[in-house]
Amino acid sequence: MPTADRSAPVPPTTMISRRGALRVLGVGAGGWTAAMLVAAPPAHAGGIVPAGVAVDGPDLGALVPEAETVVDIPRTLTATSVGLGPASPVFPPSFVAVRWCGPAGPGGPRIRLRRPDGAFGAWCPLSVGCPAERDDPSTTVPPVHALLATARTGSGRTPTTRGYELWMPPGATGVVSTALNTTSGPCQRVRVPTVSVRAALSAVAGLAHALETPAGTGRSGPGPARTAPRTAQRSPLSAGDVPGATAGPLVPAPTAAAPTPSALGLRYLPRAAWGADESLRLNPATGQPWRTTYYPGQVVTVHHTVTPNDDPDPAGTVRAIYHFHTVDRGWADIGYHFLIDEQGTLYEGRWSGSDTVPAHRPDGQVVTGAHVGGYNAGNLGVALLGDLRPRPPSAAARRSLVLVLLALTGAHRLNPVGTVDYVNAASGARRRVPAISGHRDWMATECPGGAAYSALARIRLDVARASL
Ligand SMILES: [Zn+2]
Repeated sequence: MPTADRSAPVPPTTMISRRGALRVLGVGAGGWTAAMLVAAPPAHAGGIVPAGVAVDGPDLGALVPEAETVVDIPRTLTATSVGLGPASPVFPPSFVAVRWCGPAGPGGPRIRLRRPDGAFGAWCPLSVGCPAERDDPSTTVPPVHALLATARTGSGRTPTTRGYELWMPPGATGVVSTALNTTSGPCQRVRVPTVSVRAALSAVAGLAHALETPAGTGRSGPGPARTAPRTAQRSPLSAGDVPGATAGPLVPAPTAAAPTPSALGLRYLPRAAWGADESLRLNPATGQPWRTTYYPGQVVTVHHTVTPNDDPDPAGTVRAIYHFHTVDRGWADIGYHFLIDEQGTLYEGRWSGSDTVPAHRPDGQVVTGAHVGGYNAGNLGVALLGDLRPRPPSAAARRSLVLVLLALTGAHRLNPVGTVDYVNAASGARRRVPAISGHRDWMATECPGGAAYSALARIRLDVARASL
């Protein structure tokens, strides 16, 4: 059951006009980012535009949905089993959410899948993958381990697995598993807003203006106070602007040929478009959403989801992660602020308000996620779909990641190649980490995968060059 923070401040009811803030963006803070997000001209059909192309792009107030699309969203099917099994849900599972208490090793946990012909396959080891966590795990229950296991036995979009069996290390107790199918359930036809990646990220970048608006004119409501003021109209490479930030390595001067990814060809899926079942994040006792907290953005953390590579149904995978985090982990919502699939499609993650700007309240403060336990307040989580231990992000995913990081570091005045002395504004927990960090910079974990982590150094440089 979700146990979100009930003592959190309620989002303000009077807020700065998002469209108003965006209209000044083109000539003020964040205009550089808007330039990068303008669709490339035909001469750059490969999706790469030179840095510094004309800022005079489309109306940045175009955050208003450009159109509506009708999509069919399959309802997520679930079947919960207690114990090790074998389990035979009435539908073919594509994922299995597993929870247990006690030891996590050695040698376990493992799963074996029942193939379409009825025979079991080999036992396969399971790993926790990205050990995302909220800031306030319960201290009244034993340590609970949880993971989302892939249950596909074929390469097609429709799952064909007939069942599964689990194996746990000796001493494991309280084993509960939930089979998930996010592809084959009855569909609900819904109208969803069409918002381009450029519009969504320009809106995020435009928050730089809202964040720099003096208190009383641009912000209102009982949101948490800032830890320190920020200076307007500075380059995002001015490390001194960020509380606790230190200068990073020298960034090479940009050249005319420095490529900057464009949003051309990239899709953006707000929550409705990927099929977030908003009823899952309601408090069953009241029927109302759990309260959320918002804090100034201080840092961005990159993850991988350890879900299948060459994923035939990434939106279905996002729905599975949403169910796992929201229901099976009890976090009231998905833990990440953004997700990116191998095609570069950008998914809106954690719900941040009734407006269409992802991850933020209109005053620029960041909704608290659940992706780095103990260090979530003001920490933006971006998850790359797939297992990025053996392979780096695809070119399209990397392009989206750079654009997201460009928008976020611009909005929050972060030095893309610097470090930050992060302070959890709620708990006081501190950590010095790169401003664009990997999950493993915070704790002992493989996340975001060895290959992706190795790629982060060049990605930071690309973001820094693009922001000049
Ligand atoms: Zn992670």
